[in-house]
Amino acid sequence: MDNLSSRIEKVTPSLTLAVTNQAKALQAQGEEIYGLAGGEPEMDTPDHIKEACYRALKEGKTKYTPAAGIPELRESIATKLMADNNVEYSAKQICVTSGGKQACFNAILAMVEEGDEVVIPSPYWVSYPEMVRLAGGEPVFVETSEKNGWKMTAEEFEEAMSPRTKMVILNSPSNPTGAVYTEEELRAIGEVALSEDIVILSDEIYEKLVYGETKHVSISSLSQELYDLTVVCHGFAKAYSMTGWRVGYTAAPEKLAAAISNIQGHTSSNATTFAQYGALAALEGPQDFVNDMRDEYDVRRQFMLGRLASIPNVSVVDPKGAFYFFVNCAPLGLKSQNLCDKLLNRYKVAAVPGIAFGNDSAVRLSYCTTLDVINEGVSRFEEFCRSH
Ligand code: PLP
Repeated sequence: MDNLSSRIEKVTPSLTLAVTNQAKALQAQGEEIYGLAGGEPEMDTPDHIKEACYRALKEGKTKYTPAAGIPELRESIATKLMADNNVEYSAKQICVTSGGKQACFNAILAMVEEGDEVVIPSPYWVSYPEMVRLAGGEPVFVETSEKNGWKMTAEEFEEAMSPRTKMVILNSPSNPTGAVYTEEELRAIGEVALSEDIVILSDEIYEKLVYGETKHVSISSLSQELYDLTVVCHGFAKAYSMTGWRVGYTAAPEKLAAAISNIQGHTSSNATTFAQYGALAALEGPQDFVNDMRDEYDVRRQFMLGRLASIPNVSVVDPKGAFYFFVNCAPLGLKSQNLCDKLLNRYKVAAVPGIAFGNDSAVRLSYCTTLDVINEGVSRFEEFCRSH
């Protein structure tokens, strides 16, 4: 069939999934692969969350729920947003989605029209540009640099704006760079957005993974005006190691929240019923898992930072959040896909080419894996860099 929609013709398949598949194929042939390409915590979901889900199943919670989610989960998310982020939403402003990915897509579909421009700081999470294209919009990239900690400044944002700009996408903490915007930086970006009524999509899925003195700030909490322009996209995947559960949410001003629920009501309906009960237990149960996981990742982050900093021909910025290093490999003079192919085939290390995130001279290395894998993977990466 060669008459696919022009919409889909513009969309590039996910490179991150391609790398994982390539690594899996080598593993299936018996090769030992050091996986630094992952995008999910390697720990299992905590037991009390699984048990809440089993209980829901046993109690027959196996039918449709309202499209926007079970009322008690929407309430609990609103309570969380107040407690953690100091921002007031009512349950009806929350839409529970099938993962943070659907949260972002729903928000983009609800706001972006044919020909609208969406400002995206680059490097960016792989799916944003494709979601914007699927909605008929055009991504406008703002190249950030290592010297700015991979963050977009308010001035750069302003320069990228045009009369067609409808939305800006912020992702703090960031995948792939680990950059975390400070309150001051968010206020400055917010001022620019307010000056032209640009909608802010704030993807906060890595909120719980911030290290040291770093604080996560939600832009919607900074003023009523910013609240009125912001849609928060969030999820349970990264904080509670629930990637396969597919539960996320949006929090938005009422009109936008209703539009998002409407879209979802006609596309996927509710997120899986019993998974929603697991998500409820995640929010309402003990939070030690989240804190322990963050502490553990901080150990791995510091270990990896020390190792990467001593490798010649590459450079890194100390990531303040998430679980990735975005390693600048420009001096090696290789295109990122070529670099990752060599790294995988010769050195058995899986990494994601920077081109997937809009930067062709970097690679993304994750530390959401064991210290042993990190140690051996980075040693091999070092060997590779020294031999080039
Ligand atoms: N946003 C960012 C920045 C991500 O990195 C991811 C997943 O990798 C998501 C959203 C989507 O998460 P979920 O698994 O909840 O759909």
